[in-house]
Amino acid sequence: MDVERQAENNDFLANVQTAFDRAAAQTSHDPGRLAQVRDCNTVCSIRFPVNRDDGSTVVLKGYRAQHSYHRLPTKGGIRYAPGVGHRTIEALATLMTLKCAIVKVPFGGAKGAVCIDPDEFSEAELERVTRRYTTELIRRNCIGPAVDVPAPDAGTGAREMAWIADTYKAMCPGDLNALACVTGKPLAMHGIPGRQEATGRGVFHAISECTAVEEDMQAIGLSRGVAGKRVAVQGFGNVAYHAAVALRDAGAIIVGISARDGAIFDDAGFDPVAVRAHRMESNLLSYPRAQVFEDPDALLGFDCDILIPSALEGAIHAGNVDQVRARIIAEGANGPTTVAADDALAARNIIVLPDLYANAGGVTVSYFEWLKNIQHVSFGRIGFHNGHPDSPWPTPPRENGHPRELEYVRDALGDTMARAYAEIREVYARKSLPDLRTAAFVLAIDKVSEIYDLQGIFP
Ligand code: NAD
Repeated sequence: MDVERQAENNDFLANVQTAFDRAAAQTSHDPGRLAQVRDCNTVCSIRFPVNRDDGSTVVLKGYRAQHSYHRLPTKGGIRYAPGVGHRTIEALATLMTLKCAIVKVPFGGAKGAVCIDPDEFSEAELERVTRRYTTELIRRNCIGPAVDVPAPDAGTGAREMAWIADTYKAMCPGDLNALACVTGKPLAMHGIPGRQEATGRGVFHAISECTAVEEDMQAIGLSRGVAGKRVAVQGFGNVAYHAAVALRDAGAIIVGISARDGAIFDDAGFDPVAVRAHRMESNLLSYPRAQVFEDPDALLGFDCDILIPSALEGAIHAGNVDQVRARIIAEGANGPTTVAADDALAARNIIVLPDLYANAGGVTVSYFEWLKNIQHVSFGRIGFHNGHPDSPWPTPPRENGHPRELEYVRDALGDTMARAYAEIREVYARKSLPDLRTAAFVLAIDKVSEIYDLQGIFP
């Protein structure tokens, strides 16, 4: 089956590769070089046993894909989700390579998964799963500060990253940089402030940059700026929550929220902090004063300006794209819009801020965490904060006479997202490309190709 046909069937890898091929056609790179940039270099498929609390044994399936070694280490999250296949992991690893190129993070792309529903495992079982999976990665040289550095993705978080770091440290004694083997760690394990919020905050910056361009807003009938914009977020996990908080703080109105249990709508807007607190005790649909929809997909049809799909891939497809009423879609999730849906949105002049840019805040701050770990010092403790004119870091506000590390991270994230948007939009305008996704792919392909051109092929 050709790639376009597979994409129509909602195959994630085929969708990513179709977007890649369309963008590649707008470049002048040699076909061999384009294949080198496009194809995933390594996919490890792993099976390993884990003891359950009741004494039984299950054999689990896991993956690690390393898409590109043009820069090292490779970098990408670990997802815990049932039914994930190697094509999904290859697609996610491909996006990681391109994402890193766009935000100038000097890593190749990677992604990993364990095929479990984490809700069906106890904490002790999840710890055994995570430690055994890490051991399998070490065995295959698929993890290490200079080799491949995982991070959280759907179904994992700081807790799992702490177990990974501890397992690596135990198995690789003498590695001074052991803690740089994974990012997204808790602060007390030399994580970095602002990592957990980074992807969602990055989505907020992407929207701020986009809505700041007067002529682009005029073209879609919106006013300039974030304040007053009506926003619906699909998924209410790590990415969606932090995007919603940052947008609310900037004056946007969060009119819709969905999760697995359904969707809620309130014309007057939700306080995402209150909704999250409520959801921890109860379910989303019992939130007071909200209009309630049992079908989570109802959110797509909510009356809003900005839609943030931040659950899983393939959420907006040919079968439901016509329901979308937003004028801007900011892809918090990876691959939430299929190629067919993308075409339909472009025909309706709806702006899509593509995943490889919109959710790159996570890997950006992961890069800062990795730098902090290999430097063995926090940002601001020495060196960077003296206001030296050559310092690449903005001078952050001070607390008790000391700069706060969180301020460095937030400023540098905002700066990274702003520069990346300016570059994508410049390519979009200069090459008269059909949409920002194509522009982002072209930009990333150019950057990775240049490195391959310069370094040549060994032997
Ligand atoms: P998460 O597990 O914290 O949250 C996922 C949310 O999606 C959950 O709240 C779940 O209830 C919801 N959900 C599942 N099915 C749904 C449905 N049908 N309708 C509505 N909601 C549904 O995951 P996350 O870390 O927020 O990641 C979400 C997406 O963002 C993934 O595509 C991931 O690859 C991408 N992403 C995450 C990061 C990160 O740093 N965590 C970085 C870049 C991209």
